[in-house]
Amino acid sequence: MHTRLDRLRAILVGRELPALLVTAPANVRYLSGFTGSNGALLIAPAANLLFTDSRYLIQAAREAPAFAVREIINPERPLPVALKAAAAELGLPRIAFEAAHVTVAAHRALAAALEGVAELAPVEGLVERLREVKDDAELQTLRRAIAITDAAFLASLPRLRPEMTEREAAWMLEVALRVGGAEAISFPIIVAAGPHSALPHARPGDEPLGLNRPIVIDMGARVDGYHADLTRTVVLGEPDERFRRIYAIVLEAQRRAIAGMRPGVLTHEVDALARSYIAAMGHGEHFGHGLGHGVGLEVHEGPGLRRAQPDAPGAPLQAGMVTSVEPGIYIEGWGGVRIEDLVLVTAEGCAVLSQAPRLDVG
Ligand code: ZN
Ligand code: ZN
Repeated sequence: MHTRLDRLRAILVGRELPALLVTAPANVRYLSGFTGSNGALLIAPAANLLFTDSRYLIQAAREAPAFAVREIINPERPLPVALKAAAAELGLPRIAFEAAHVTVAAHRALAAALEGVAELAPVEGLVERLREVKDDAELQTLRRAIAITDAAFLASLPRLRPEMTEREAAWMLEVALRVGGAEAISFPIIVAAGPHSALPHARPGDEPLGLNRPIVIDMGARVDGYHADLTRTVVLGEPDERFRRIYAIVLEAQRRAIAGMRPGVLTHEVDALARSYIAAMGHGEHFGHGLGHGVGLEVHEGPGLRRAQPDAPGAPLQAGMVTSVEPGIYIEGWGGVRIEDLVLVTAEGCAVLSQAPRLDVG
């Protein structure tokens, strides 16, 4: 935690920000270790403060030893009032806040309380960008989440039956994740059979898995707050020619993207490696979503592997980043194929962390 705080402090100094109020739960956890549902941090030059309520005082002291805990009490001493006292005590002229995570109402209350004491300055993505590069402890936890996910998929695969509904299959996978050691599922599991698989984020329903058609399974274990994310497309029975062709294109697109991942390569260049191949094979309009996303304390976090946007240009990959690589082809009325693995950027290139088997469509 100390290194994380040191890195953040260096950024604050560089941007001439005297202090940062951290309110996004994943950022609070990342910097302090605190896992409670109500916590805010004030990172100042001479102090690390953690504001929480009476339910969490013991837990906060245990989980966040680098922080001094300040109790917030409603309605006498809500966060804005506690923050005002801290700002006055520490002599902070300006406090940066996470603009993406503070509501208009919360901002109004903060501004009113701090009036005449400290100014508020909006910032975005400071802690999120630190979180993009995983440290050794985070990688260890992610590897555990990924191993549980791979094992749950592998154990469930032979138990899938054509008459089983998407919902039943999703539940079976969820149980396998939990029995395997997941504290929770990373996100509601997707099992989408036949034409449903053409919807990248289909909800499992009463549709039977059926025979000889694509079944997209997207699942992940959460371990100590860290999220795995895995997609496999399978067929019960015999994959037909069309499926084999499309599956091979998606697999090759993924292989090309992974082959190009190393430090310094821009995120949109990785996206383009897969996207240009899918387009060249005639399916450009069947791949609408981004190629991948970072995983960590959130299942979708930076860096995003996607086309460059005017307001979000590509950024260079760095060793320690973990992203999904998940190309897909989705054809309305027929179905879809998506293959998703988690990939760690290393000093030399990258390493595929997911080990669940893929279909052999040779
Ligand atoms: Zn996924
Ligand atoms: Zn994903």
